[in-house]
Amino acid sequence: FFRELERQGIHLNRPQVQAVRHFKGPLLTLAGAGSGKTTVLVCRVAYLLSVHRIHPGNLLLITFSKKAAEEMRERITRMPGLGPGVSAMMQVRTFHAFCLRTLRMNGWEQEIISDSRYQQIVIKRILLSKGLQDTYQPEVLLSLLSSYKMQLIDIATLPEKTEEEQEIKQIFQAYEQWKLEQHKMDFDDILVKAHELLQTNPDVLRSLQRKFTYISVDEFQDTNTVQYEIIQMIAQHHHNLMVVGDDDQTIYSFNGARNEFILQFHEKYESAKTVTLDINYRSTASIVGLGNAIIRHNVQRKNKTLLATRQSECKPQYIRPVSSDDEAEWLIDDIRQRIEAGGRYGDMAVLYRSASNSRAIIEQLILHNLPFIDYGSSDSFYEQWMVKPIIDHLRLSHERRNFEAMEGVLPSLYIGREQGMRIIQEQEAVQAKKWPLIHLLGLPLLKEFQKEKLKNRIKLIKSLADMKPLTAIQAIRKDFYDSFLETNKRSKLSHHKEMLKETLDELEASAKRFDTVEQFLYFIHEVAEKRNEMHAAKREHGADKIALMTIHKSKGLEFPIVYLLCAIEGNMPHSSALAADQLDDVLLAGATRRDKSDAALEEERRLAYVAVTRAKAELLISSPVFFRGKKAEPSRFLVSAFPGADKAVAASPVGAGPVRAAAAPSKAAVARVKSAAGERVAAWVCSSGRCNAWARISSPQEAQRAAKACPLCGEAMHKGSKLV
Ligand code: ATP
Ligand code: MG
Repeated sequence: FFRELERQGIHLNRPQVQAVRHFKGPLLTLAGAGSGKTTVLVCRVAYLLSVHRIHPGNLLLITFSKKAAEEMRERITRMPGLGPGVSAMMQVRTFHAFCLRTLRMNGWEQEIISDSRYQQIVIKRILLSKGLQDTYQPEVLLSLLSSYKMQLIDIATLPEKTEEEQEIKQIFQAYEQWKLEQHKMDFDDILVKAHELLQTNPDVLRSLQRKFTYISVDEFQDTNTVQYEIIQMIAQHHHNLMVVGDDDQTIYSFNGARNEFILQFHEKYESAKTVTLDINYRSTASIVGLGNAIIRHNVQRKNKTLLATRQSECKPQYIRPVSSDDEAEWLIDDIRQRIEAGGRYGDMAVLYRSASNSRAIIEQLILHNLPFIDYGSSDSFYEQWMVKPIIDHLRLSHERRNFEAMEGVLPSLYIGREQGMRIIQEQEAVQAKKWPLIHLLGLPLLKEFQKEKLKNRIKLIKSLADMKPLTAIQAIRKDFYDSFLETNKRSKLSHHKEMLKETLDELEASAKRFDTVEQFLYFIHEVAEKRNEMHAAKREHGADKIALMTIHKSKGLEFPIVYLLCAIEGNMPHSSALAADQLDDVLLAGATRRDKSDAALEEERRLAYVAVTRAKAELLISSPVFFRGKKAEPSRFLVSAFPGADKAVAASPVGAGPVRAAAAPSKAAVARVKSAAGERVAAWVCSSGRCNAWARISSPQEAQRAAKACPLCGEAMHKGSKLV
């Protein structure tokens, strides 16, 4: 098997081979980024199939995303002695896909609500019935509900001390009741109901235990309570459970993930074997070094030292453009130069902390006709649920008979689209009005407050016509969202609200570039048209496209060239993580305020670590000097890892002015700090001179100890130094 693997160019190191050979009992591989955890998982599955002759139907392989599952299936197919037939018979699935299948096979026929917009509509209806439409936003409530469910917190047990707590609990209960009556399940229910099924039906559980005699889970550090319990139950009988992960890469804990599950694996499975992988095969030494320099500031972690194997002259680069728009221009320029020099789009990935950071870069990519895939959402920034109604109001202010925009305005008035549009069109046919929206006053069953709202809204829309785009957006925002977003610091929802605010701030930052609403609307239209054209021409480019995604989505992936954008305070770490008061007591039971803020900050640092460790050969990080119109400081995570990052200044003054759609990139706006080179650190260095392996000596105690043999070639390691 291993010889065959080598023939395919896969030379596993000794601990990797050990993990692949592991046959029965629990196995834990807790290791740093890029050390081959996923590789080992795939090879072991192939080993079980082709050497131990385990039937493919007995294997269950859980991955983090659908994309990862597809890739894994493909890799298994290519393994020695296997083919597509085998992988078709095994279950390589995400938790959701696995649980849904289990439910369906056991008679659960509920329809799945797969569109979050539909969930929002349901919540909106509940809010309206309780007169709470101006107090809460559906999206925020749904994300809070989701975190409770992932931790198996029963809604019935939620506290009811404050008025807010009582209201939230009632809304959640009404939503659950609605689903029950309608015979529907949402995405989270898939896991919760599967858990319930296994708990209450011993026959189903027993049959799964008998079927899945070998279970493997990738990215185990991000399993949440419900997922963990499901796996536990199925593995309970045979204990053939292999989990791989990296506690430094837990990045979903505010969504319910708990890295204690991986850190305390031995407590649960005392006989568990551990295999440590400490060689990074993915990235060049300076990228590995930067990752290590970032993550070592975390306290809540298992200390690991990663050896680097790939040497390169090319160091990570740090760039300080003046603004996000300059950042986007610099990026376009850099990508173009690489393409001219023979590079491939498909080798590049652009990562950012939150989806709204990608607004400027997506616009520029579209306007410059560069091929990309946005892994975030199929909606453009201006089509997002929070932004679209605002744009529709702007449209109406300029074209009062734009029926499409009118339809977009209706939900914010709590009027059903179909019913609303029907009455407008019927009445228009009888007597056309200057403001067709006025017909809505004739809607039967319209409540008094809705009539009032409607009149005020028309007044607001009229007043927008003469405003500058920024002022107009501020006015709509005030009317729509501000009463809700004015954050009560002690509220359960503040953490989630912070994320929403960011989207609105980004919209303002975008609008600020234009003098008139018309210009702004024209720009949005132009971007949308081009985007559609690009979608239509999809097949032409094949898979050779720049990948755009949030850091969260990039987990487990790797790219030759990685751009990390908007690495500034408030974003990395994100402002939502900076205020301890904002974190939910129910989710973080028992934690003190200080614990909470430390935990939140450490999670942000792990995000930075995940981001930089995606890069194989080149890493370019940028921190705009001005962000959404305010001065921004470089991310503290970088300042401590990049000497001089805080002193770098942009070369040109802030030029606000309106953007020119396809303006030439202004190189002057970009200041480069050459590289992070310069710090010499104590290190263990392999004396063979062949494999280039080395590891940083991170503490005086470590320096006292004798070096281990080189894990790559087995030669002695000596004390030396390395430039990082
Ligand atoms: P992450 O923590 O990001 O999920 P990982 O530990 O799962 O990373 P892999 O994705 O399995 O790491 O491997 C990282 C890269 O190293 C891949 O390109 C893989 O092909 C390569 N690799 C793994 N093991 C070896 C090896 N023994 N020799 C050469 N390359 C290897
Ligand atoms: Mg992996």
